[in-house]
Amino acid sequence: MRLKNVKGSRERIAANEYALKDVEQNKGSWKEFFGDGKPIHIEIGMGKGQFLMEMARRHPDIHYIGIEKFSSVLVRAVQKMEEEPLPNIHFIRMDAEYICNVFEKGEVEEIYLNFSDPWPKERHTKRRLTSHQFLERYDQILKEGGSIQFKTDNRDLFDFSVEEIRSAGWTIDQCTYDLHHSDFLEGNVMTEYEERFVAEGKPICKVTFHR
Ligand code: SAM
Repeated sequence: MRLKNVKGSRERIAANEYALKDVEQNKGSWKEFFGDGKPIHIEIGMGKGQFLMEMARRHPDIHYIGIEKFSSVLVRAVQKMEEEPLPNIHFIRMDAEYICNVFEKGEVEEIYLNFSDPWPKERHTKRRLTSHQFLERYDQILKEGGSIQFKTDNRDLFDFSVEEIRSAGWTIDQCTYDLHHSDFLEGNVMTEYEERFVAEGKPICKVTFHR
């Protein structure tokens, strides 16, 4: 969902207090950075931030950090936060490949992956956010007992992900191939992509898993 050439997006992000800079310096000291002992949840590939903002409204006792690769996308979330500032949301513009440079083991209690890019070509497998390469990175930052929640409309990506999760030795807590007609819907917060797919009548797959 790369939005090309959103003029001034880099500058706008640079000037925004919620978009964190030099985040490698916080590795190992995020609790001190926030100073209040609240748990940290992250969304990787947050897009325009709808999910994260609703989660932050519902759960003021959690710090949410949204990670997004492209300024042209992140700037939309930054604009929304300028209109409705929420004290428990921050953003990082980065490629999640480098997530272990930012968080120390145990600093993250929950990871959300919502409608991640499918990267359908075989040679791009390791770019999928649920590949075993990424699962290893998540293992290095998650708190013991912390979990990961993954939603997608893409059945091929979902089947691949469940296989990666199992073969990497994670434990699956919940798994559904039709979230919106399942027992797991309570408390669900829809993302931008999810709203679109649900309106089109597409089933949404969801898996929740932990180490
Ligand atoms: N999560 C949002 C939703 O459900 O509406 C956006 C989904 S969109 C298909 C995937 C997003 O993940 C894009 O904004 C893309 O730029 C971002 N993304 C993909 N790979 C990424 C990576 N390695 N690091 C950070 N963001 C990434």
